[in-house]
Amino acid sequence: MWNYSFEFPTLSILAIILVFYFSRPRLPVRRSIVFIHMIVIEALIIILDILATMVDNDCAAYSIIYIKVLNMLYFVAFFDRAYIMYLFSIIVLRDSLQEGKLFKKLIRLPLFAGVFISVISIFIGSADFPYVIFYINETGYHSGNLYNFLYVCGFFYVLLAFIAVVMYGRTLGRRRERYGILIYNLLIFAALIIRLTLPKYLIMDTLILIAILIVFLAFGNPDFHLDLRGTAFNRPALSKYLEENTGRLKLTPFGVVIRNYHEMRDLYESSQMEEGLVMIAKYLKRISPKGILFYCRKGRFIVLDQPGRDFREEAKTITERFDHPWKSHSTELYLSAGCATFDNITGNYSSEILLSTMLKALESIGRAETEEPLTVTEEDIKRTETERGVRQCIENALGNDGFELYLQPIVDAKTGRIIGAEALSRIRDTEGNIIPPGLFIPVAENSGRINRLGELVFDRTCKFIKENPIEKMGIEWINVNLSPLQFLCTDLDERFLSIINKYGIDPNSVHLEITEESMIDDRFLQKQIKAMGEKGFLFVLDDYGTGYSNLSRLKKCPFINVKLDMSIVWDYCREPDDILPNMILAFKNMGFSITAEGIEDENMINTMKSIGCDLLQGYYYSKPVPASVFPKII
Ligand code: C2E
Ligand code: MG
Ligand code: MG
Repeated sequence: MWNYSFEFPTLSILAIILVFYFSRPRLPVRRSIVFIHMIVIEALIIILDILATMVDNDCAAYSIIYIKVLNMLYFVAFFDRAYIMYLFSIIVLRDSLQEGKLFKKLIRLPLFAGVFISVISIFIGSADFPYVIFYINETGYHSGNLYNFLYVCGFFYVLLAFIAVVMYGRTLGRRRERYGILIYNLLIFAALIIRLTLPKYLIMDTLILIAILIVFLAFGNPDFHLDLRGTAFNRPALSKYLEENTGRLKLTPFGVVIRNYHEMRDLYESSQMEEGLVMIAKYLKRISPKGILFYCRKGRFIVLDQPGRDFREEAKTITERFDHPWKSHSTELYLSAGCATFDNITGNYSSEILLSTMLKALESIGRAETEEPLTVTEEDIKRTETERGVRQCIENALGNDGFELYLQPIVDAKTGRIIGAEALSRIRDTEGNIIPPGLFIPVAENSGRINRLGELVFDRTCKFIKENPIEKMGIEWINVNLSPLQFLCTDLDERFLSIINKYGIDPNSVHLEITEESMIDDRFLQKQIKAMGEKGFLFVLDDYGTGYSNLSRLKKCPFINVKLDMSIVWDYCREPDDILPNMILAFKNMGFSITAEGIEDENMINTMKSIGCDLLQGYYYSKPVPASVFPKII
C-alpha cells in the first residue's frame, strides 16, 4: 500500500505558486515558459500519482485499460519532469552547449527512450514479457524489468545539470542565484534517492516542490522583473529578453523619455513622479497593446513592438499627449517627452550593445532642445560597439602600462617663451592607432577606471619632472587634468602626495586642472581644494565657458589660473565683443591669471594678448607631443 498523504499539501502549495505566477505580468522568456511547464508537469504528476495509487490500491474496482493509461501517463510525465528540471538549470546558466543543435537532440534521447518504453508498456508488458517499465494484470500493478530506467534517466539529467552548475555557476551574477541553482539540483538528487530507498512513501514530490520553491525565490518570482507597481518590466528584464533574442529580435524597439527627468523629479518629488510614471506606463501599454513595455529608470521607457507600425506617427501622438497633464486624484504633473525610434536592426549585436545604444539615445533626446523624434541607426549601435572596444583597450593599457604621456607647451604671452605644459594622455587600439582622450576618458569614467588611469597619468608626469631638468628648460610647472570623478576622491591628497614623495619633487610643479563639472557641490569643492592646498597642490580651472559656474562661486575658490575654453576664444577672435574682456578683468581682480586655449594663428595671439591673457596654448606653438620628444621641441 502506498502512502500519498504528503501529496495533498504539496499540490495546494503548487496551486498557490501557479495562481500567483499567473496573476503577475510575466516576461516572455524561456525560463518563464520552462518554469510554468515545470509547475504544471509537477502538479500533473501528483494528480496522476494520487489517482494511480488509488486505483492500484483497489485494482479490482477499475478496468485494466484505465489503470494502464493512468500509469503510462504518470511515467511519461515523470520522464518529462526529469528533462524539464534539467532544462531549467541549463537555461538559467546560459549553457553554451545548449546552442548546438546536435547536442540538443542527443540530450533528449533518454527522455524519448523513457516516453517510448512507458507507452509500449501498456501494449506489450505482461508477466511473461516483463521487459517494460510496468505491466498490469488481474493482480494489479507490477514494476517491469526496465523500471529502473526511471532512475537512470533521472540521475543522468541531474548529474548533467550538476556539471553545468560547476562549469557555469560562477557566471550567475547574484549569490541568491548561484546557491539557488545548486540547492535546487541537490534537492532533485535527494528526491531521487528517497524515491529509490523509500518507494512506498511518496515524499519525492514534496522535495521536488521545495526545489521548485527555491528556484521560484531565486529566479522565478515575476516581481524580480517588474517596475512601476507592476505596470512595466524593468531594465534587467530587458537585458534578459534581448540576450535571449540576440540576432533574432522580431520586435522593434521604440523609446520614450521624460525630458529633464531629474529636474522634474526634484520639482514634483519622487512619490508624485512615480504616480505619473505609472500613468504614463499604462498609457503606453494602451497604445501598444501587443508590445512589451520596459521602464529603465531615469524616466526612460522602451516598448518592444510589432515591426511595421508607424513609429513616427506614434511618436507624434505621444508627444501630443504630453501637452496635457498627467492627472490622478493626488497628482497633476506637467511633463514633456522625447521619443526615439529605431531603424531596422539587421546585424547580430549583443543585447548589452543594443540596450546601451537605446538608453544612450534616450538620454540624449531627454536633454535635446528639439521635439523631433530621434532615429537610432545601425551606425549608433556600431559606435557603442567601438566604445566597448575602447573599454578593452583601457583595460589593456592599464594592464601593461600602455599609457602614453603627451605634453603640449604653454607659452608666456609677454615673452613668447614656453614656461609650462599640459599633460595629455593617449592610448592605442589593437592596430596601434591612437585613441583620442575625448573618446576614452568618458568610457573610463563610466567603467570605474578613471581613478586608476588618472593616477597613472599623474605618476608619469611626476616621473617626467624627476627625470628631466625642467627648470633648466625654463618650464615652471606641468598641468595635469583631473576628471570630476577623480576630484571626488576624499583621499586624493594622500594618494597624490605619496606619488610626489616617491619622486621627491615639489607639489607646486604639478598644477591640477579641474573643470566646472567638479564644482557642483560647493562645500565639497572648498574642502577638497583646501585639503589639497595644505599639501601644496595648486588648482587651475579648465575649459571655462563650457559650464554653468558663476563668478561668486569662483571667487571662493583659490585657483591660480583660469583657462578659457577654445570655443569662447575662437568665438571672440571671430567676432569680438565686450563680454570676454570684462570677464577677464573680473577674473584678474579676483587674482586669477588667464590662459587662452586653442591658439592657432598669430592673429589669435595678438587678440588674446590685447585683452589681457597671460598664457597661450595651441597648435600654433605645438600640438601635444610624446613626452620623450618634448625636451627636443623646446
Ligand atoms: P583639455 O584639457 O581642454 O585639453 C586641451 C585639448 O585641446 C587637447 O585635446 C589639445 O590637443 C587640444 N588643443 C590644444 N590646442 C589646440 C588647438 O590649437 N586647436 C585644437 N583644435 N585643439 C587644441 P586632447 O589631448 O584631445 O584632449 C581632450 C580632452 O581630454 C582634454 O581637454 C581633457 O579634458 C581630456 N584629457 C586628456 N588627457 C586627460 C587625462 O589624462 N585625464 C583626464 N581626466 N582628462 C584628460
Ligand atoms: Mg586641460
Ligand atoms: Mg581645456
